[in-house]
Amino acid sequence: MYEIAVIGAGPAGASAALFAAKAGKKTLLIDNDKGMTRRGWYENYYGISEIGGPDLVETGHKQAIKFGAELIAEQAVSIAKSGEGFTIETESGAAYEAKHVILATGVMTDLAAKAGVVTKDGTEPRIKTVVAVDAAGKTNIDGIWAAGTVAGVSVHAVITAGDGAKVAINVISELNGARYVDHDVLKA
Ligand SMILES: Cc1cc2nc3c(=O)[nH]c(=O)nc-3n(C[C@H](O)[C@H](O)[C@H](O)COP(=O)(O)OP(=O)(O)OC[C@H]3O[C@@H](n4cnc5c(N)ncnc54)[C@H](O)[C@@H]3O)c2cc1C
Repeated sequence: MYEIAVIGAGPAGASAALFAAKAGKKTLLIDNDKGMTRRGWYENYYGISEIGGPDLVETGHKQAIKFGAELIAEQAVSIAKSGEGFTIETESGAAYEAKHVILATGVMTDLAAKAGVVTKDGTEPRIKTVVAVDAAGKTNIDGIWAAGTVAGVSVHAVITAGDGAKVAINVISELNGARYVDHDVLKA
């Protein structure tokens, strides 16, 4: 069983998976590569002077994989409560078990709604529906979280990436039973 499954590998999901895997959690990242990030050109992402969407997405995937996240190119079609966690089914018929699920599906809320996750009207330009979350990123279903555009944050890559990291840190902290920080120190 995976400790954390992230659905969607744009900035929100890949950032969440990177933090989860780097924290030593068994992490699954499922993505069907239909997100909005590839279409953009970014000059407002802190620390990067400019970058094209495809490079931003692919670098994020490589970072998550480097720390041990398993990236699967698939469409998740259902999430159902099972045992200690959830079973996620994909279009090919594969099934994956995970204790916690982070939804990072961008503009898509169909999977969340099908799983019984409460949605609400979006407030950001062109974002019609989002998942209802609390300040930690928790949905109405214990163990299902949401991050990034689908969780209603401002539709900017640096914000969605930061939100994915925030939600992953909250999940990691819940699994560990103590607040978690990931600080590496500059080598002398
Ligand atoms: C043309 C354009 C230009 C932009 N320019 C800028 C800019 O200059 N600066 C800026 O800050 N922001 C810009 N943005 C916005 C920015 O791209 C987004 O805010 C941010 O990248 C969204 O990240 P996300 O992870 O929330 O969503 P996404 O990147 O959309 O990622 C969601 C992922 O979930 C996957 N997914 C959805 N459902 C499923 C499922 N059921 N199973 C598996 N995978 C699933 C999708 O395929 C996708 O890969 C631009 C957006 C566009 C469209």
